[in-house]
Amino acid sequence: MNLDRRLLALLRGPRTAFFVTVALGVLGGLLIVAQAALVAWMVNAVFLQKAGLAEIRWAVLAFVVVLGLRAAAAWGAEVSAFRVAADVKRTLRERLLTHLALLGPVYTHGERTGELTNTLTEGLEELETYFRRYLPQVVLAAVVPLLVLVLVFPRDWISGLIMLLTAPLIPLFMNLIGSIAESLTKKQWAQLERMSAFLLDALQGLTALKILGRSREYIRRVETVSDRFRETTLEVLRIAFLSALVLEWVGTLSTAVVSVGIGLRLLYGKLTFEQAFFVLLLTPEFYFPLRQLGARFHAGMGGVAAAERIFAVLDTPPQIPPESVSAAAAKPLLPQEIFPLRLESVTFTYPDGSVPALQDVSLTIEEGMQLALVGPSGAGKTTLAYLLLRFIVPQSGEIWVGERRLAEIPAAVWRQSVAWVPQQPYLFNTTVEENIRLARPDASFDDIVQAAKIARADEFIRTLPEGYQTVVGEQGARLSGGQAQRIALARALLKDAPFLILDEPTASLDPEHEAAIQEGLQALLARRTALIIAHRLNTVTQADRIAVLENGRVVQWGAPDELAAQEGLFRRLLQARGAVS
Ligand code: ADP
Repeated sequence: MNLDRRLLALLRGPRTAFFVTVALGVLGGLLIVAQAALVAWMVNAVFLQKAGLAEIRWAVLAFVVVLGLRAAAAWGAEVSAFRVAADVKRTLRERLLTHLALLGPVYTHGERTGELTNTLTEGLEELETYFRRYLPQVVLAAVVPLLVLVLVFPRDWISGLIMLLTAPLIPLFMNLIGSIAESLTKKQWAQLERMSAFLLDALQGLTALKILGRSREYIRRVETVSDRFRETTLEVLRIAFLSALVLEWVGTLSTAVVSVGIGLRLLYGKLTFEQAFFVLLLTPEFYFPLRQLGARFHAGMGGVAAAERIFAVLDTPPQIPPESVSAAAAKPLLPQEIFPLRLESVTFTYPDGSVPALQDVSLTIEEGMQLALVGPSGAGKTTLAYLLLRFIVPQSGEIWVGERRLAEIPAAVWRQSVAWVPQQPYLFNTTVEENIRLARPDASFDDIVQAAKIARADEFIRTLPEGYQTVVGEQGARLSGGQAQRIALARALLKDAPFLILDEPTASLDPEHEAAIQEGLQALLARRTALIIAHRLNTVTQADRIAVLENGRVVQWGAPDELAAQEGLFRRLLQARGAVS
């Protein structure tokens, strides 16, 4: 489906409001005509027929009423156009967010958060302008001139003909200029996205830049990027101003031609004064909507450029197809339905990766087993966790959940059955209670406190200014890394899923936190089946099984003491940590 049709399809929701906008626009056009007719009649009556105030009183009254109605129609049209735009924006935002949720973290990471954020904010704003200002104007530009023509032709066909011939000049010029502006607008949009991505990146990495002493260099790069954006913006504006000038000029010139013609015909007595004046009053109104369209053309193009980007995101097929089972209705699987959980010759390559991140990996996780994944950074540990979380799907091989393939289980059901504690847990800018409750929306406050107690989080939460009601700040800014970890552990405990995937914290924590986290972790792991991306020596040595990954392959597999006794990567890793000499 082409872009314009897709944009129009968005109007299906706010259909009524859009029709109201158009209808009020047309009503506005009719009122303009009525106003011109009244003015022409009054001027004619007073100046040529020497009428007194009493004779034209009704016309003056009607004129005031028409003025009032015009204002009301214009106001109504604005309001309903705003409704349309707000509705479209809300629908699209929902669709985008749902789709992004479906595409999952692997896509959003790959896509650069800054660009996506820009699409979700600026992009939707641009589209709002398109629906609020541009589209209603397109309709008006088609309807009002037609109305004027219908009225002018019977009274003064020569003026009508001039209008008919000059009117297409405006869209023609607009198109000519538009084709140049279009590529420029797209360029501007691309640059805005790049700039947003770059700025967000720099902001998030500010600490690193400061520490590495690179912030000055970055400032220069920020300057370059914003300079480039400024230049493109100015180019776009130059074209926009130029086009406005040309359109004004065409409009004014055409009005002048019509006026001169009318003047001459009036002079030679071929027209009555009232008719001539009426046509003269209508002439600017004929060109006005067209010129206005030209002025808003730029907004329209910005909307189209943004729409392309929005639809590109919406068109990216998700790896996991959408399902009928809603997250709320999903019940977790029973442990006996999940285990043994087996990976069979699983291979996965990232869309932009040249070598597989995981290659021919086979593993079995039995019920109650704690499997530690170890290996150097980049070995594929996170990728394995992502596969088990169903963020990504293997290109070959199979993941078996008990008797079933993982792909056959609705994602919502599966996600109820797995708890995931990432290395850097994400905390939302809301209360501690809400942050823990995310794991199980229907949990009672007591459940939450209980989970926090087991995770060793309760003690520090109570010391916060408002206890469980303390708002944690963006990304948990008010909390230390260790505290955030313990809240994440409380989440996982509250969820109480039969299978746990845990990416252990590596950050060196102060001893007090370290001890608390260890206790929390032990409590979480007790009697649970877990896959642990292990960075700590005691987790590794206490695991039931260890899989050693290297370059996407399982190079060693077995119990910790077995592996420690063998020559190999595991022994070398232990040696590096000073555990074995
Ligand atoms: P680990 O968790 O063991 O450090 P990962 O599973 O994160 O390793 O990465 C395995 C390999 O996949 C690495 O070579 C990494 O560069 C690559 N990789 C990870 N994430 C992506 C991604 N989103 N796109 C492309 N390649 C990726």
